[in-house]
Amino acid sequence: MKTPKCPKCSQPMEEGFILDQAHNFQSAEKWVEGPPQWSFWTGLKLNGRKKRQVATYCCPKCGFLESYATMED
Ligand SMILES: [Zn+2]
Repeated sequence: MKTPKCPKCSQPMEEGFILDQAHNFQSAEKWVEGPPQWSFWTGLKLNGRKKRQVATYCCPKCGFLESYATMED
């Protein structure tokens, strides 16, 4: 994918991702299809949901963040 430009200051943005540090392990944030549904036993219900990796671009000048769902996973 082409590097996006910041919509506020037109700087080329840097690719990265949002770190998810829940449950004492580190992973990258993911996009999940549909609204969140909670289960008392397992927390969020994710059975059969479509998930995609999320790439987040950051503007080095103003810090604006822009996220894109990338490949399915
Ligand atoms: Zn900016």
